[in-house]
Amino acid sequence: MKIIPLPAFRDNYIWLLRAGTRAAVVDPGDAAPVLRYLADEGLSLAAILITHHHPDHTGGVAELLAHGAVPVFGPAREAIAGITRPVGEGDVVSIPELGTPDAPVEFRVLDIPGHTAGHIGYHGAGALFCGDTLFAAGCGRLFEGTPAQMFASLEKLAALPGDTQVYCTHEYTLANLAFAAAVEPDNPAVTRRIAASQALRADDRPTVPFPLAGEMSTNPFLRSREAAVIRQAEAHAGCCLASPVEVFAAIREWKNRF
Ligand code: ZN
Ligand code: FE
Repeated sequence: MKIIPLPAFRDNYIWLLRAGTRAAVVDPGDAAPVLRYLADEGLSLAAILITHHHPDHTGGVAELLAHGAVPVFGPAREAIAGITRPVGEGDVVSIPELGTPDAPVEFRVLDIPGHTAGHIGYHGAGALFCGDTLFAAGCGRLFEGTPAQMFASLEKLAALPGDTQVYCTHEYTLANLAFAAAVEPDNPAVTRRIAASQALRADDRPTVPFPLAGEMSTNPFLRSREAAVIRQAEAHAGCCLASPVEVFAAIREWKNRF
């Protein structure tokens, strides 16, 4: 199975999974780039996976289904038109068309609320599709969830195997790293990641996917137990922060205004 980024809108990636002549897509906010790729490559769609209800992740579902009915997996706790297979924590999404008869490609569903209330992620085949929850060196905005929910979701993702390749839905990496460098000017891992990411972008290449292991050393939203991060968060919040969640919340607030 190969996983292909289909750029959409200004900075979205629609992820297309392909094997043989079959394909699945994750978060098709727009049908046009998906239909074009399927036609160009002689592929047919086998499944759609959705992480959350925002239009830039769901806007293409109706048009894709108009070209042929396929199972649509998505968060059981969000109302999204077109979903035929509502899923939540612990469910397994099986896509036999992308595997072999005895070994279908499978993803385990994770509840990761925070960006939206019912946001889910899909983990399997060495990959994590996490929508707008975890970004490279960043995390999604808290539109519907609390800081405690988002922090727990991020820690849940961070506990997955370090060699997991993270397929988030936006190319926000350089902006996120600029903020990470403001939080931790003396973090050499951040400095290195900025150089590596700038080189990719200068070449017009995506910075996504990225290995999960690098997040613990560079993502300020996963580093609220670090003394340097606590100090900066307290300086911005204007007082003392009693827990990692409070540090996370202060960092998230700061990023909103950065
Ligand atoms: Zn979103
Ligand atoms: Fe989005």
